[in-house]
Amino acid sequence: MRSLFLSTLIFSTALGVVVPRAGKKIDYNGFKLLRVSLSEGAEDVEAQIEELAAHVLNPGKTAHLDVVVSPSDADAVTALAATSTVLNEDVGAALAEEGELAAYEVPSETWFTAYHSYADHLSFLSDLQAGFPGQSELFTTGSSVQGRTLTGIHIWGSGGKGSKPAVLLHGTVHAREWISTMTTEYFAWQLLTKYASDATVKSLVDKFDYYIIPVVNPDGFVYSQTTDRLWRKNRQTVSGNSCVGRDINRNWPFKWEVPGGASTNPCSETYKGQAAGDSPENTGLRTQVDALKASTGIRLYLDVHSYGQYILWPYGYDCNLVVHNDAEHRSLATRAASAIQAVSGTAYTIGPACATLYATTGDSTDYTDGVGNATYSYTYELRDTGRYGFTLPANQIQPTVRETWEGFISMLKDA
Ligand SMILES: [Zn+2]
Repeated sequence: MRSLFLSTLIFSTALGVVVPRAGKKIDYNGFKLLRVSLSEGAEDVEAQIEELAAHVLNPGKTAHLDVVVSPSDADAVTALAATSTVLNEDVGAALAEEGELAAYEVPSETWFTAYHSYADHLSFLSDLQAGFPGQSELFTTGSSVQGRTLTGIHIWGSGGKGSKPAVLLHGTVHAREWISTMTTEYFAWQLLTKYASDATVKSLVDKFDYYIIPVVNPDGFVYSQTTDRLWRKNRQTVSGNSCVGRDINRNWPFKWEVPGGASTNPCSETYKGQAAGDSPENTGLRTQVDALKASTGIRLYLDVHSYGQYILWPYGYDCNLVVHNDAEHRSLATRAASAIQAVSGTAYTIGPACATLYATTGDSTDYTDGVGNATYSYTYELRDTGRYGFTLPANQIQPTVRETWEGFISMLKDA
């Protein structure tokens, strides 16, 4: 039995890493999404499961791992786990519910009923900006490994450009989290298109300068559309290793060196990089954070992710450390979660990141708090809680962006 098990494991390991054939998109038909729990202290087992899995969807979570596995590896993963449940029998079928990438249309509410290509996201931003030239402009802040500029939109109100404390929003640092692209774009859309007609929106646009970057990991995002829908990291190589990608959200140069909240293995979903801040995407983002700190200051930073339905604040790197304005963070998050829930019942869990979800080092919100002096720093983990995970069906885009907007404006009022 033991030798049979071992041979299964070795055979499966060879299949576990999903490597796309050149120019071909990975076919997830028949792949299963399993939620597995591990016995206490079973870090070696966790590593074995990570090797068998095509992707770990929630790397770092201690309570359970959500893993996508090929049909031939499912039994081996189940055998390693203390308990396992099947969240989805066919990941490929779930992907089909996302719908095709839509053809480009000028910005309208219809934009938020389908997913879009990276090129179309850039067109959306530039067409949106062109409609409001007196109170917005596009900006770039550095570029990706493959030379794509990190592009965002700056929005201001009656005080004029750059006159108010900054609200900084990042989307899609993890390539597969497509709903975060749509959500940050919806915020920009609402702020500009409702300014003239909605007194609340006008007051909030007049209160802050907004800097919104819907896709901070463009290379990974493009790769998630052309090749591997479940890709997370950037597309940076490591010399002497065939695995690709740094986790940009474990690469920020603040408490990067603390052990436990990221991986030093280039093949891991949470690979932290070889040195703090050694991804070009991080350099670009960090440059802007530092510049805003030095000019108007940052009142509110949001890093928008999926999935899990959480609102989290610092710290990620230490579960026992409480941020100096923890009570204020909790107060804003409590009201934002209520505002979201009031729309259609979506329930969020809130709390300090490490204690509430899992330990993360070199993450954005620890940096914006610890180095950027942002008054408030939050990570949003949007819908859902695992049924669809990253591949939220197209018919959930509008409900998600609309409810999250209510949480966002609640925070803006309080901040
Ligand atoms: Zn994420």
